[in-house]
Amino acid sequence: MSTSGKPCELCELAATTHWYAQRVEPFPFTILDCDSCDVPMVVLGAHRARPDADERAVMQQALAEVADARSAAGSFFDDHMRKIPEHYHWHARTLPAWLPRLRRERSKEDDR
Ligand SMILES: [Zn+2]
Ligand SMILES: [Zn+2]
Repeated sequence: MSTSGKPCELCELAATTHWYAQRVEPFPFTILDCDSCDVPMVVLGAHRARPDADERAVMQQALAEVADARSAAGSFFDDHMRKIPEHYHWHARTLPAWLPRLRRERSKEDDR
């Protein structure tokens, strides 16, 4: 629940888009298509702005599997949370064709 009094969109995920996975182990998170961006995103199952390192690694792995299956072009992880900064979520965006394929490790390095 958010503290603003408004229900948090990411706590109350609407099943209006395709859901790839809903995991409860080792912790709750969901992978689904973002309804505004139409790309897969992972949403932490708790109302927190930051996952710990283990949670992040598990979610990154799971999102990478979905993104790779969906797009052969490769994708990169975008964890700029513009709309809902207080609830952790992460988009896997398709790489533009003009970009050389980025390694997934990039997004880890960029997290500092
Ligand atoms: Zn939330
Ligand atoms: Zn989005």
